[in-house]
Amino acid sequence: MKDVKAYAAQAADKPLAPFHIDRREPVSDDVEIKILYCGVCHSDIHTARNEWGGTIYPTVPGHEIVGTVTRVGDQVSRFKVGDTVGVGCFVDSCGHCKSCEDDQEQYCENGHTQTYNSYSQDKKTITQGGYASHIVVKESFVLSVSDRLPLEKVAPLLCAGITTYSPLKHWNIKKGDKLAVLGLGGLGHMAVKLASSMGAEVTVLSRSKSKEKDAVELGAHHFELTTDKDNMARMANSFDFIIDTVSAQHDYNEYLALLHNNGIMILLGVPPTPSEVQAVHLIFGRRSLVGSLVGGIKETQEMLDYCAEHGITSDVEMISIDQINEAYERTLNGDVHYRFVIDMATLN
Ligand code: NAP
Ligand code: ZN
Repeated sequence: MKDVKAYAAQAADKPLAPFHIDRREPVSDDVEIKILYCGVCHSDIHTARNEWGGTIYPTVPGHEIVGTVTRVGDQVSRFKVGDTVGVGCFVDSCGHCKSCEDDQEQYCENGHTQTYNSYSQDKKTITQGGYASHIVVKESFVLSVSDRLPLEKVAPLLCAGITTYSPLKHWNIKKGDKLAVLGLGGLGHMAVKLASSMGAEVTVLSRSKSKEKDAVELGAHHFELTTDKDNMARMANSFDFIIDTVSAQHDYNEYLALLHNNGIMILLGVPPTPSEVQAVHLIFGRRSLVGSLVGGIKETQEMLDYCAEHGITSDVEMISIDQINEAYERTLNGDVHYRFVIDMATLN
């Protein structure tokens, strides 16, 4: 066991604070990673504050991890000491169900192991995430990261990047599709970059007028304010797709009405409280309301390679670990441009 420095939430109503965790000694198929950067996802906040229920304290959040390999087990063949690697939202799965066999480990039918606040496959330990100096992960859940791109800007690709890339690929977003991105935060800004790189005509739907200039610089073709009722009425039946990244409860019906016939609204945001959907908004226009969870390991590697090839990274604001609580507050206030990333060297 290795004693590792970390930052943990001790209770839903307490700020994150310095903490020590044990990491297992790498076994034969394990990779030990010194964490360089870790992105701050809104899921970290939902979990640290127990907004979804089921948080097991103390919990160390963080699932947008980039680092350097420091040790490998004797069976590891894809990585060696010194390699630059990434770890995303999950670190294990059963490996034999239909989903795992289809490279969709995120939908593992026996329950995948998330990077934090999750039981290991043998149910004996609870995972702790990337707000830490080191992590030990099974080789098959470790990603190769190109060091051609600035690594702090690559870290958010491990969640925000794959979570938006996967539905864009699944629903075959292509040139000419009219696609709206609802909410311009961590996921939203990656959705804009990726969808526009695939040729879609992208509209940002935001409650924040102050983000208009950024939206265009990120690659959006249009920006529309969702707080203006006339504007919303004008946009009825406009889009083929809406990617919904909003983290708090909102009225899905208002946005379904913006879809054209056969339009698809893809839920990525996970508000802690449910919302009612009226059947008429789906029946008229034969619209669909669907969801998507991150992406499998194979697809995550494909996304990282796509981003390296197209020079796509996240827009980040670097913080030191002792600024994490302030970063959470700013994220909750929509004041993030567009992902906070922790420089893990500041843990020492
Ligand atoms: P984020 O950076 O905080 O962005 C969320 C954006 O939603 C905000 O910037 C804001 O955009 C909008 N928003 C927030 N509160 C709102 C409200 N009350 N009403 C209307 N709009 C609001 O969060 P994130 O890291 O992108 O994560 C977004 C959500 O996705 C979270 O719920 C997270 O847990 C979830 N998530 C899901 C997956 C998945 O696999 N499906 C993966 C990762 C994260 P504007 O200011 O532009 O309106
Ligand atoms: Zn995330």
